[in-house]
Amino acid sequence: MSVSLRASLVHAAMEQFTVDRGELVVGGERLSLLAARVGQTPFYAYDRSLLRERVASLRAALPKGIKLHYAMKANPMPAVVSFMAGLVDGIDVASGGELKVALDAGADAAEISFAGPGKRDPELRQAVASRVLVNLESPREVDVLAAASADFGVAARVAVRVNPDFELKGSGMKMGGGPKQFGVDVEQMPQLMASIRHAGLAFEGFHLFAGSQNLRAESICEAQLKSYELALRLAEYTSMPVRFLNLGGGFGVPYFPGEQRLDLAPIGDNLQRLLQRARSEMPEVAFVIELGRYMVAEAGVYVTRVVDRKISRGQVYLVTDGGLNHHLSAAGNFGQVVRKNYPVTIGNRQGGQATEIASVVGPLCTPLDLLADRMQLPVAAIGDLAVVFQSGAYGASASPQAFLGHASCPEVLV
Ligand SMILES: *Cc1c(COP(=O)(O)O)cnc(C)c1O
Repeated sequence: MSVSLRASLVHAAMEQFTVDRGELVVGGERLSLLAARVGQTPFYAYDRSLLRERVASLRAALPKGIKLHYAMKANPMPAVVSFMAGLVDGIDVASGGELKVALDAGADAAEISFAGPGKRDPELRQAVASRVLVNLESPREVDVLAAASADFGVAARVAVRVNPDFELKGSGMKMGGGPKQFGVDVEQMPQLMASIRHAGLAFEGFHLFAGSQNLRAESICEAQLKSYELALRLAEYTSMPVRFLNLGGGFGVPYFPGEQRLDLAPIGDNLQRLLQRARSEMPEVAFVIELGRYMVAEAGVYVTRVVDRKISRGQVYLVTDGGLNHHLSAAGNFGQVVRKNYPVTIGNRQGGQATEIASVVGPLCTPLDLLADRMQLPVAAIGDLAVVFQSGAYGASASPQAFLGHASCPEVLV
């Protein structure tokens, strides 16, 4: 087998956690002690120092004029949101419930923005009363916001989320281009901008979000450039100055074999060029990049204990006390996609012991409850701790925790 083929079969190195006495160290603590401190398995743990380093590395790679927002749906744990609120320039929320968590976390309302395709009337009123920026996604929202503005005597702050006429190439999830439930089609913008003006809403700018989980810097740069140029075109529909331009995010993290970490350097250069252009073309604009998983995924682990070790017709099964019910994406999203393994290891056997091919399965009575399918792992025994890396985003809150009636999974920020 060629070297490149071989490379395509391995996970990116998970070197963010150090090792002490053969155990992974998370939040400065050996995993077995952390498990004892939590008082049970399974659990999620998020490492504060890694979150801090991640935001610092983004700031180092991107130009100073770029505001960094945390899209909190990636990890809405209140302690995480509070911690992130102290590191980033703003929080992006996608529901009234998230808005409450962000405000409780102490995030500055002036720097919170609220996007989502089906905002209910009470959520929109909540946003106006809180003085946060609403990323408008439909003409209906203009009417509801106008009524709330009149009732409260507070002009609703709005940016328009635009459904662009292009897609983000190579992204895991496309959220713009073609027909979409998100945002307002470019074609409908002249009319919408006029109705915002008539309604007397406080227009601030545009929001473009082309897609998610992209590991190709050149596609992200292309989407940013196209988004910028689209915003320039749209600015012609209004006499109101464009003060806010959210260029989306989409920065991915490596989950599966063969995936490499995103190179931020070309993205930083690209944004620098756009900032330079904006000085003459949109002088009042502030650029925002909104990131969810890129900020938090690599700082988190899901930890589950081996409760049984079985051999079926020669294949080793490590049966753990948690799985699909707590970590749907690592299990493969109910079998709807071609399943690939997340990076998994045995967290208390990092000393270079013998390895074997084993599958890690959860306790649920379904073959879909699979955390690792025939992976090369340190030889594990009952009581060991199986660890799923890259688990700081879309884990606990994005999993069917009530499925099969097991206890829900605690989360700790350490
Ligand atoms: C989900 C979402 C994000 C975050 O996506 P990630 O892939 O976690 O970075 C950002 N912006 C919007 C509008 C979203 O819906």
